[in-house]
Amino acid sequence: MTIPIPAPASADIGVYGLGVMGANLARNLARNGYRVAVTNRSAARTEKLVAAHGDGSEGVFVPAADIDRFVASLERPRVAIIMVLAGAATDEVMEQLAARMEPGDIIVDCGNSLFTDTIRREAWARARGLHFVGAGVSGGEEGALWGPSIMPGGTPESYDRLGPMFEKISAHYQGQPCCAHIGADGAGHFVKMVHNGIEYADMQVIAEAYDLLRHGLDAAPATLADVFASWNEGELDSYLIEITAEVLRQVDAPTGTPLVDLIVDRASQKGTGKWTVQTALDLAVPVTGIGEATFARGASSGVRQREAARALDGHAGGFGIDSSDPGARDAFIEDVRQALYASKIVAYSQGFDMIAEGAAAHGWDIDKGGLASIWRAGCIIRAAFLDDITRAYAARPDLPLLLAAEPFATRIQQAVPSLRRVVALAAVAGVPVPVFASSLSYFDTIRSPRLPAALIQGQRDFFGSHTYHRIDRPGTFHTLWAQEGRPEEQWG
Ligand code: NDP
Repeated sequence: MTIPIPAPASADIGVYGLGVMGANLARNLARNGYRVAVTNRSAARTEKLVAAHGDGSEGVFVPAADIDRFVASLERPRVAIIMVLAGAATDEVMEQLAARMEPGDIIVDCGNSLFTDTIRREAWARARGLHFVGAGVSGGEEGALWGPSIMPGGTPESYDRLGPMFEKISAHYQGQPCCAHIGADGAGHFVKMVHNGIEYADMQVIAEAYDLLRHGLDAAPATLADVFASWNEGELDSYLIEITAEVLRQVDAPTGTPLVDLIVDRASQKGTGKWTVQTALDLAVPVTGIGEATFARGASSGVRQREAARALDGHAGGFGIDSSDPGARDAFIEDVRQALYASKIVAYSQGFDMIAEGAAAHGWDIDKGGLASIWRAGCIIRAAFLDDITRAYAARPDLPLLLAAEPFATRIQQAVPSLRRVVALAAVAGVPVPVFASSLSYFDTIRSPRLPAALIQGQRDFFGSHTYHRIDRPGTFHTLWAQEGRPEEQWG
């Protein structure tokens, strides 16, 4: 097929990069009434999209064989979305677009870019009079096609032009678009990164709950599918719980075995969890749930280490649950459900803490309640739970700690006895629960009136003269540890 030369200014918006996400985003824009210019490095993908969907039934596509014709087909001020592999490819395409664009035009990167790259690209584009918008897009390929959650950064002027289009194609929750301007330069990609980090923690706590129920009740995956499906009717109502039930119910047709038992137990990652943890370390924010979830994926993939440790005796005991006793069985299931809920509160609280710290460090004015509200549909972590987060920040935008605000404060205190029982039982039974256990430790840390950090400060002063503060007097102190009588010095 030969791609015809498009008429100048015949498209409202363009998509460069027609892989899984780009093609679906372009189709979503066309279905919503926008004339969409489409192009791809290799023309085959452009041809494929037009052959499959270019009959007008999905709206108007304006295909272009190359980037010159693509840019020429865009109405001014031009808006071109880049949807290619994150990293060097994004830089290459951005530079090619910028060379053909004019001041006031808008380049949008909807890939999963690292937010510091977006900050750099925005400055580069701004110096050329262009707008650069780093937009987080969540929802996978189905979301891109039918309505994702969209988190655009960039200037308010760029949002004036882009926002109405993105709001129209985004998912909607009770009539509200799941898209909002997040903040300057890298803010959109920053919150998308944390969103993905929270997704890691959320998936891991669900996996830990499944593992405990499987071992503790000696239950078949199909039985546990029913448990997760029933949880999805209550406060844990979420996309991830829903798909967990679906995955557990799936049976491999040729063997008749539950599919989950045939899947290799090594979890992969594309890097956004790692970025979240690296950035959290830079910001000194403890995102223990996300960290443990990311490390758990790494540990599962440590083939050599797992092989070397397999024969070690863990001296694990049993769960001691009589699964033929419906009362004991139901009590255990409820404990695990409560433990999951408590750990989820911790993971989200930590994630929103990180967003607050990131916003402060980069000068972004991020509306955290508004952000929670655009995660209520379209994205992977969509959950009833986010309604409560939206309300909590609406009531107090400068919340110091989400889990200490209602309704989470009440719920976590109700759930924590179950979390303690579950973590203790898992420890005895030798079932790994890294996020459940770290969530409990975090909760106990932040609610503790006095921490052993005092001893650490003493140790630091001993070996490195790092000084300490006292609870009873102002100033900075150092003990002369090597001197007779260990006198104390004071400054300030
Ligand atoms: P695909 O692998 O399906 O497609 C990759 C696209 O990138 C192709 O169009 C490819 O062009 C293009 N590309 C690669 N290198 C270059 C280059 N050097 N110059 C120009 N074009 C290049 O990717 P996806 O659609 O899955 O992902 C695209 C982006 O969206 C990524 O950043 C990804 O992280 C992000 N994303 C993906 C999600 C998902 O669920 N898949 C969810 C949210 C975001 P060609 O055909 O010529 O090879």
